[in-house]
Amino acid sequence: MSGTVASQDGSKALSWEKNVRRVVPYVPGEQPKNVEKIIKLNTNEFPYPPCPAVREALKRLDAASLKLYPDPASEPLTSAIASRYGVGSDQVFVGTGSDDVLSMAFLTFFYGQDPVIFADITYSFYDVWAEVYRIPYETIPLDEEFHIRKEDYYRKNGGIIIANPNAPTGIDEAGDLSFFEDIVRNNPSSVVIFDEAYVDFGGTSALPLIEKYDNVLIVQTFSKSRAFAGMRIGYAMGSPRLIKYMSDVKYSVNSYTMNRAAIELGVAALSDEAYFKETVAKVIDTRERTKKELRALGFKVSDSRTNFVFCTHPEKRAREIFERLREQGVYVRYFNKPRIDDHLRITIGTDEEMGRLCQLLNNIL
Ligand code: PMP
Repeated sequence: MSGTVASQDGSKALSWEKNVRRVVPYVPGEQPKNVEKIIKLNTNEFPYPPCPAVREALKRLDAASLKLYPDPASEPLTSAIASRYGVGSDQVFVGTGSDDVLSMAFLTFFYGQDPVIFADITYSFYDVWAEVYRIPYETIPLDEEFHIRKEDYYRKNGGIIIANPNAPTGIDEAGDLSFFEDIVRNNPSSVVIFDEAYVDFGGTSALPLIEKYDNVLIVQTFSKSRAFAGMRIGYAMGSPRLIKYMSDVKYSVNSYTMNRAAIELGVAALSDEAYFKETVAKVIDTRERTKKELRALGFKVSDSRTNFVFCTHPEKRAREIFERLREQGVYVRYFNKPRIDDHLRITIGTDEEMGRLCQLLNNIL
């Protein structure tokens, strides 16, 4: 029988638990079962289906082929991504969503003694990976308007990660890219990761920096702009040296991260540039209209360059709005966290969905 020792929270811990890696997990947005009945604007999914070529590729998928392991290097998906972005296939790493890619990047590149640095308001998975891998880290406050002060990143550190555009604020700092290049130039001894999950919705990608700086890693995903959240495909691009280090770690954890279906369908998802541009432009259009409508309702709305908006209302608490919307079947995201606990993050859906949202908000306010 196991003995017991007191645990930090006062509850009785079993003696074997001292050898357990215990973490406070990341909490993903709710995935309700009855999706037909609700308007789901809480996890930044794309409102339109993947391009028609995906349906065709799905029909061609050979069930018998599933008895064989997939290619550990995820070809031909790796090459399709490389040619889409004009980089070498030795400059591309793929994983099961950008969460997997980012987690591998943390494990690979953040192995020093100095703290890894990132913003206080950003993707809330960063501190969770730092905790699970026992990586020292420090958060750097954004300014009052939720902008990065680049000078704050000119200091000793064990690595840097920046969401570009940032989440959940939606703010794009890159502009002409010299903003981020200054941060990179001041950090030749760190790997600098740009998490560009939302960059296709009008952000400025830091991708050009990878040709000039061998310590820059760009991480993107098929989950948002390519309508593939359910398929789980993410990728990183960087110097062959960075990619080799990441692959070595991946092959030491799980060689076959990408399944055969994901590799085939991922190639199809990349094949229709016209559909991609057209549907992304539609989301951007809807976003700009939504911003105007929310402002007309009295919301303060950040200048989002993503597929979501981040907003607060001077007269009504965000939590109450969140709950009232939820009761009526409209799910948005509320974060009970310092500095942003009076904000809502609302994914851009179809015009119809956003119309319904604004109608309900009008009644609530
Ligand atoms: N980065 C950011 C900033 C995100 O918001 C998300 C989505 N939760 C991800 C990465 C991960 O997305 P995925 O794993 O679906 O690619």
